[in-house]
Order: sequence, then structure tokens, then C-alpha cells
Amino acid sequence: MPDPGDGESADRRAELASRLQAVRARVDAACAAAGRDPSAVQLLPVTKFFPASDVLALVESGAVEFGESREPEAGRKADEVRAVSGRSDLRFHMIGQLQRNKAKTVARWADRVHSVDSPKLAHALDRAVGTARESGDRDGALEVLIQIGLDDDEAKGRGGVVEDELLTLANGIEQSANLRLCGLMVITPLHGSAEAWMAKAAGIAQRFIAEHPGAAELSAGMSGDLEIAVKYGSTCVRVGTAIMGDRPVISP
Ligand SMILES: *Cc1c(COP(=O)(O)O)cnc(C)c1O
Repeated sequence: MPDPGDGESADRRAELASRLQAVRARVDAACAAAGRDPSAVQLLPVTKFFPASDVLALVESGAVEFGESREPEAGRKADEVRAVSGRSDLRFHMIGQLQRNKAKTVARWADRVHSVDSPKLAHALDRAVGTARESGDRDGALEVLIQIGLDDDEAKGRGGVVEDELLTLANGIEQSANLRLCGLMVITPLHGSAEAWMAKAAGIAQRFIAEHPGAAELSAGMSGDLEIAVKYGSTCVRVGTAIMGDRPVISP
């Protein structure tokens, strides 16, 4: 008996495949315009709010790394996608704001966290990863990025540490047993000029890399501003809407 959902899911798979390809073409064009090597910019599909079947469709289209931002949705989905696909090479990134009490669950499924924004969160993740490694729930260290805040007026900003606190946090992470510092992450504030914010982020990143040459990654750019982010040195664009379509509206 044919599954009545088959036609619909085939359509969705085709839609995701073509949107993924179109966004990759945008990233490649932005790299060409900036004189950068396209292999130096990762396209990370952001699958929050969308079902495991969509993630599996993207796997079929060649994607191997995914961004998620909400627990427990993220952990459940990562488990399901790994089990159904039977693949051990898929990687899941936690990109959203993270509370310390979620460190334990995130340590179980995440390969990378983009949103470390305090020494307390770094410490909680370090301990949680240590426990997960001891109990055999996890293999390696957790890769982390420090989220930098661009707007000093935090009320209007979108989280992250200010530059003054950056080196202290970075040194703490580098001394931890279970975290590996890979670079910085930024979310461009919604107000003002995206280009001016990205130029500011690039300046912070340049000064940071001088101190931490082994942590040279910069996660920046989303559906709306990925071209600007690539121009200013992003090594990872996190793209949801342009690949997945509109997310459901969350009620407050
Ligand atoms: C949801 C999300 C994205 C993707 O945003 P789009 O505008 O849908 O591409 C990127 N980064 C973070 C931190 C997110 O939470």
C-alpha cells in the first residue's frame, strides 16, 4: 500500500534540496565577490522547529552538520536523526542561548556550542562534558565558540560578552579539561547598519585571533545578512529560513 504521505514528503525533499543548493550558491557568490575560498565558509542549516524528517532530507542532499537552538527539541531530534540514518558522521551544533541547567543534556548530543557567553556557562559545560565522557555517553571534547555582543546597550543587544571580558573567558576555556575553543560567534543586532555591526565584529575577531591563533573561526551571518558576513570574514553562516522556510510564529 502506498503511504498517502509519500507525495507530500517527496515534494518537501525536493524543495529542501533545491533551497539548500540555492543558498550554497549565494554563499559561493559572496565568496567570489570577497575574493575568498568558498571551502573556507561553512553553510550550517538551522533546523530548529522543523521535524527530524526534514533533517534526514537534508542529509540525503549532502548536509552533515546542523544547527539547533532549543532543548529538549534539539537533543531528541539529534538522537532520532542519528538512529534513523545510522550515520556516525553527522554533527549537531547548539547555536541558541543556553541556560546553565541545560548543560548536562547538551553535553550528551552537541558537537559544538556557538553561544558560550559567561564563565559560569563555560564551567557548567566543562563539568557536564567531563561527566558524560566518564560515563561513556560522549567521546571527545566539546568545541565551543564565544558569543560576542556588539551592542553595549544590552537591552537592545542580542546577548554575548563585551570585548573587555573576552580574553578572561577565552583563557578560562583554554584551561578547561573538556572544552576546545574554536573561535567567536556573533548575532548582528537588528537595529542600525548590518554592515557597520559586521565591521565591528571583524575588528574584535582580528584582535582576538592575534591572542588566540588556534581559535580563528567566526560564526556570523544568517538568511538575511550572509553576504555581508562573508565579506567581513565569516567562516560559518547559520541559515534557517532561506533553506527551511518560515518558522511557526511563537506566542509570547
Ligand atoms: C534561528 C537562528 C539562525 C537562523 O536564522 P534565519 O534568519 O532563519 O536564517 C541563526 N542563528 C541563530 C543563533 C538562530 O537562533
